[in-house]
Amino acid sequence: METGRCLEVNNLRTWFHTPEGVVKAVDGVSFHIEEGETLALVGESGCGKTITSLSLLRLLPETAELKADRILLNGRDVTQIDKTEARLLRGSQISMIFQEPMTSLNPVYRIEKQLGEVFRLHHPGISKEEVESRSVEMLRKVGVPNPKERLKAYPHQLSGGLRQRVMIAISLASNPRLVIADEPTTALDVTIQAQILDLLKQLQKDMNMSVLLITHDFGVVSQIARRVAVMYAGKIVEEGPMEDVFAEPWHPYTKLLILSIPGIKVTRGKRLESIKGTVPNPLRFPEGCRFAPRCPYATEACRKTEPPVYEEGGRRVSCFLFKRDTVSD
Ligand code: SF4
Repeated sequence: METGRCLEVNNLRTWFHTPEGVVKAVDGVSFHIEEGETLALVGESGCGKTITSLSLLRLLPETAELKADRILLNGRDVTQIDKTEARLLRGSQISMIFQEPMTSLNPVYRIEKQLGEVFRLHHPGISKEEVESRSVEMLRKVGVPNPKERLKAYPHQLSGGLRQRVMIAISLASNPRLVIADEPTTALDVTIQAQILDLLKQLQKDMNMSVLLITHDFGVVSQIARRVAVMYAGKIVEEGPMEDVFAEPWHPYTKLLILSIPGIKVTRGKRLESIKGTVPNPLRFPEGCRFAPRCPYATEACRKTEPPVYEEGGRRVSCFLFKRDTVSD
């Protein structure tokens, strides 16, 4: 493993065995995140993004089969550890910020108990006063006004934006090296979304954490990520530095995702509202390129053979068009 690499995922496959057959939710995914870097994993819902992150956290249901050549988190292979070690790893080295804080915050406990628990867990024997002062400090860090009073509040007494800030405080209280933020702003209105993204960016810098941002929204990606990996039907179809991918997407799916951001215009004044069709059923992925049924550039070859991964200049793409030069309008 290279120095400075926080996470390295090699050939991750997360399959579910169901009475109808094998669901290949994640099917050969590889990526890495440098220390202090934000990587966005982007794609429509049902592409396998969340299952990828739950695999890293080892939070999969019993029906799941997880295989990987390796998943190194700060040099430790998380595929080789047992459930107890995995639990210890969560919260100490890796933690998660969920989309809807109301479902991850416990409605019957005050914020002080839920946040304080993290400090008590990671610092056994810590005094009550110390827990309180660390909790106040953490809430202040994530921009919660009047933190001392807010500690006494129940989740339902806070606004959506404040709840998400509290959730972020809980996720970061253990000082994890990697934070997975799964659609952290989707449930919030646009103004609050921007504030939360700014906050995440600031915290990431201050605490030098690595962030894996899971999102369906390329608009969010452009605001926060340094690199982006685009996922479709269980595979990563394109990966590269955010600016490069944004300026010149190589994969037709990436291009369509970018064009579906409100306000983005295609050359010649045309605008694509959304991507036609739906993500294929993982029980019945099409043969060849999985994007072929929705791809405006699909050929017979695409429908028969899976495209290889082409690499160039720190970017990679899985599409036959790459050989035929860049995608044109
Ligand atoms: Fe479209 Fe073919 Fe590229 Fe798949 S391989 S994205 S079908 S052009």
